[in-house]
Amino acid sequence: MLKAISAAVVLTVIITGCTAVEPPKNTAADTGQEEKLESLRKQRDAVVKFFEPMRVRPGDWLDTQREQGETFEEYISANPTLPIDDRWTIYIQPIGRFNSEQLAVIDKVAEYMRAFYSLPVRLNSAKPLGEVPFDKKRLIKYRNNLQINTSYFLDDLLPKLLPNDAAALIAFTNYDLYPEPTRAFVFGQASLTKRTGVWSFYQFADPKTGRYDPKLMLERSLKIAMHETGHMFSMKHCTKYECLMSGTNHLAETDRRPLDNCPECMAASRHMVSRSSMVASRS
Ligand SMILES: [Zn+2]
Ligand SMILES: [Zn+2]
Repeated sequence: MLKAISAAVVLTVIITGCTAVEPPKNTAADTGQEEKLESLRKQRDAVVKFFEPMRVRPGDWLDTQREQGETFEEYISANPTLPIDDRWTIYIQPIGRFNSEQLAVIDKVAEYMRAFYSLPVRLNSAKPLGEVPFDKKRLIKYRNNLQINTSYFLDDLLPKLLPNDAAALIAFTNYDLYPEPTRAFVFGQASLTKRTGVWSFYQFADPKTGRYDPKLMLERSLKIAMHETGHMFSMKHCTKYECLMSGTNHLAETDRRPLDNCPECMAASRHMVSRSSMVASRS
């Protein structure tokens, strides 16, 4: 049975499409919006020559998945989910029990998000996993490893915990995750529209010793948390450059990725941050 499970590791986004999507309130109607967008386009175009195109290696995400990528213009036309006047706090919700090293990493991730997005970031107290339906968990017997389907977080647990003023709610957990029955596991997953996401520490440990390298754990956590948060602000996977928003199939690929965005994704994230600053200044 395990042979049927793809060895591919996915850092991905899947839209379940099973619930109504709240229409984002932000539009291009704000004063000066078009000038800001034009300025971001110019900044993008000016730095493009400094970036190498994505090189796909055997076993990488794009070696196994077909994806279109997304330009800045496509991102804007898709009317992304962004912070709005009454919804502009990012919440971090730890789920499970954590050791002091993991808690310190979560603290650092919260600090980084706060600095990057110019938004309030609230780190909640840890909550237990709760009762997971039998069809949303599985036991990998040879590792004695309980895995939780990400849809339990994205569709069941997090929507109930989503505060009204949340720009996004991301759960951190140390339970191992899987996105669908054919996948071996996943580092994290988020919705482009529902403002919810989840990621796990589980796969960061050395498979032989079960120990975490503190530096790698922080780097991987920052990359995956920021990648999933990008998804929660409607950013799709990047295919043009080696970029924070590129999908990854394995930890070596994750480790190769920068914590920064490429020119296209940088323009998208700057647009998001400028919205954040505008919203925050009104409060
Ligand atoms: Zn992704
Ligand atoms: Zn990119």
